[in-house]
Amino acid sequence: MATRAALLDLREQLRASILASEDWQQSYRDDPKTFKALVAGEARLETAAAEYLVGLSQRAPRYVDWSRLPRPVQADAGPVLNNSDPVWKEEEKLLTAAVLSIVTELVATGAIAGESLYGIPMGFSTLDEAVLVAARTQVAQLVSNVTATSRDLIRESIQQSIAAGEDLATAQARLMTVINNPVRAELIAHTESVNAYQTGLKNFGKVTGAVSKTWDGLAGACKICGPMIGKTIPIDDFFQLSNGNEVDHPSAHPRCRCGLIYNYE
Ligand SMILES: [Zn+2]
Repeated sequence: MATRAALLDLREQLRASILASEDWQQSYRDDPKTFKALVAGEARLETAAAEYLVGLSQRAPRYVDWSRLPRPVQADAGPVLNNSDPVWKEEEKLLTAAVLSIVTELVATGAIAGESLYGIPMGFSTLDEAVLVAARTQVAQLVSNVTATSRDLIRESIQQSIAAGEDLATAQARLMTVINNPVRAELIAHTESVNAYQTGLKNFGKVTGAVSKTWDGLAGACKICGPMIGKTIPIDDFFQLSNGNEVDHPSAHPRCRCGLIYNYE
């Protein structure tokens, strides 16, 4: 019988080929080798996030003081362990361990794509200090966001159980289903792999003396990205999006697969 690891591996290869067939801005595809690394990295990140969420769904019931049900659940006063409880730091450590090396590879992939696309070999790799620092910064942000969302989801699940008058077993089953959500893993992987790749590409642009960047979006881009297409701004400026956010580079929103072209005058 196939092991879980072998099955996950097979699923990952399948996901990588599906991801490769999706709508990516052409600049991602122009260098086939790094494009392959990008989709493989995204698939790996998806598996890692999904596996983390499976684990969290099994741990989550321990983060609720079930003896205190039912009572109104508020942000910091419900039966779910407080934001300051050490278990959340532990969760952050677990998620960091699950994704850091993958995100590091994706950042390096973006930088290596730059070398290939612009024909300037710099010797970027996962050992480069700028790559390591960028990956660690991104992962810290990602992990803190995911953990905050997980806590909110746990609280919301408990609220739903209280509102529905569920018994303990049903409430625990609901909680596990809410947390073990493969769509969330997919969304995390999708957005974060574009962010990591673009961070690497930006690093490449900076060290090779690029002066400006042009938004490179898909023809059928969404309302947020559409107006950005073709916009050129200085390399360290931010793109002002119609939703009020500003970004240094894509992704502009979850599932965004726009790219950037760097310009050297
Ligand atoms: Zn976009």
